[in-house]
Amino acid sequence: MDRAPRPVVDLTARCACGGVSLHFAGKVLSMFLCSCEDCQRATGTGHAAIVLARRADVSVTGETRSFSRPANSGATLTSSFCPDCGTPLLAQSSRAAELAMLPVGLFGAAAAAWYAPNQLIFARSHREWDVIDAALPQHQTYRDGGAMM
Ligand SMILES: [Zn+2]
Ligand SMILES: [Zn+2]
Repeated sequence: MDRAPRPVVDLTARCACGGVSLHFAGKVLSMFLCSCEDCQRATGTGHAAIVLARRADVSVTGETRSFSRPANSGATLTSSFCPDCGTPLLAQSSRAAELAMLPVGLFGAAAAAWYAPNQLIFARSHREWDVIDAALPQHQTYRDGGAMM
């Protein structure tokens, strides 16, 4: 399948309990995998699969809670989730408040046609049991020092 690097999408997703919905209408800015230890903890597995969007293109309906922690870059990363079911919704960096990181799994089958990660970041903590495409470019930390997270 021919996959555009920056597709334009219009998607509505819900958390597991249905209490929160998220609407993303706009251009996908980037798609990547992150195997930093925070993503491993947040997902319970080897990496997070992220869609990078403009925050202005994302609206969230329903009550959420958030958690802030220092990211590897020195920025503060704030992750929002449903307070009832714990589904991760979006994350934002203090260094790039105009951007939002969305977990692609939130969109279910609606993302299957276009999601194509273009890199793995934080490969330094990637685990061998977490098999990913060997052809995917890997960066030990952030891509070329571009610390957006
Ligand atoms: Zn929920
Ligand atoms: Zn990460």
